[in-house]
Amino acid sequence: MSAMVEIRSVHKSFGSAEVLRGIDLEVAAGEVTVVLGPSGSGKSTLLRTINHLEKVDSGWISVDGALVGYRRSKEKLYELREREILKQRTGIGFVFQNFNLFPHLTVLENLVEAPIAAQRRPRKEAEATARRLLTRVGLAEKADAYPQQLSGGQQQRVAIARALALEPTLLLFDEPTSALDPELVGEVLDVIKDLAHQGTTMIVVTHEIGFAREVADTVVFMDGGRIVEQGPPAQVLDHPRHARTRAFLSKVL
Ligand code: ADP
Ligand code: MG
Repeated sequence: MSAMVEIRSVHKSFGSAEVLRGIDLEVAAGEVTVVLGPSGSGKSTLLRTINHLEKVDSGWISVDGALVGYRRSKEKLYELREREILKQRTGIGFVFQNFNLFPHLTVLENLVEAPIAAQRRPRKEAEATARRLLTRVGLAEKADAYPQQLSGGQQQRVAIARALALEPTLLLFDEPTSALDPELVGEVLDVIKDLAHQGTTMIVVTHEIGFAREVADTVVFMDGGRIVEQGPPAQVLDHPRHARTRAFLSKVL
């Protein structure tokens, strides 16, 4: 099996609060993992450690064969320099709950900024890629608009296109539809589904159970900083083994 993401015995505390209490998880290339769990269970922190936005206290994470934030030499671990970390991070797309678009830049400029600045791509090439991606998320005609001129659903589709512009090997989504009005959720989930069907490796934190059922290869249920159970959607969603999973599902379904 080719694991795109390998997470081993990851612990993370903030002060005296242990937020990740020994996480082990593998995500195979081309698979979609949906992470469910109550607020405060550590889902965002887990995503942030995969992108090295948070440093782990112990354990390790590798993405596409490379340790996140570290390199190994003669069985010793060395921390990567900031520049190397930034480079690693460009291979991991991150889509946030609140879109996080640059408000003073047009849609097109939002998409080409990182490829030009971080990957040194020629502007022409970056713009051609950006326009192709905007077409893919159904927003070709919005290239020159500013984020505040778009609906929340459109902004999130731009944010997804922006993440794709770096040609990431892995995409992380942190509650991508939680900030949207209900009628705008579907258009964003459709874009994510489309990516899933094209074999993009993704970890998606969401409370959208229907999406999980339809798209996930693996559903992970977290509570209290631990993975309580994981498996195919039909198992975890329809035949949960743990009382905590059942209690959670009865609230969100
Ligand atoms: P979830 O995404 O599942 O709601 P989080 O990973 O955001 O959970 O948070 C898990 C716990 O860690 C919460 O109790 C939260 O308050 C705490 N936490 C998250 N980030 C920080 C931080 N930077 N500093 C201190 N505590 C944090
Ligand atoms: Mg969260």
